[in-house]
Amino acid sequence: MVYSTNLFPPVSLEEIKSQCLITPNFCWHWQGAKRKGYAAYTYNGRTFSLHRVTCFLAHGEPKPDENALHSCDNRSCVNPDHLRWGTQLENIQDAIARNRWTSNRGTKNGRAKINPDVVRAIRAIWGTGPTIIQIAELYGISNQMVSRIITKKAWVDVEDR
Ligand SMILES: [Zn+2]
Repeated sequence: MVYSTNLFPPVSLEEIKSQCLITPNFCWHWQGAKRKGYAAYTYNGRTFSLHRVTCFLAHGEPKPDENALHSCDNRSCVNPDHLRWGTQLENIQDAIARNRWTSNRGTKNGRAKINPDVVRAIRAIWGTGPTIIQIAELYGISNQMVSRIITKKAWVDVEDR
């Protein structure tokens, strides 16, 4: 397992958990250093994203294009039960599903509304694999609207961040 030992520090889930505050919804809230809000763990002068480490310890090695995705929206959480490996597209799908759940709860059609964040997300994922049809399904909008967004014929004023 050369790949793993290079990629992840030798630390156990028990050691990690002992340095976390367990929240009422069972998030393991890391008490140590953070990097961009994510739990950071330094070993031998290298800093690791700790949620990737616990995801690895519980679920094994990721594929090259996979990230450790939170199901709990808590960046500093390192509970492996709240983490799974997934692609950037799945990450965006999760975020949309959660946003739909929290902000559009009660709406009947369940379709995501277009807003500047969605426009930026569509422009960001275009070229990373998904087709226009997949993006359209993902956001619940027409193929035509997706191509207008990508080619900046619609939502012209939205700047990339
Ligand atoms: Zn959590």
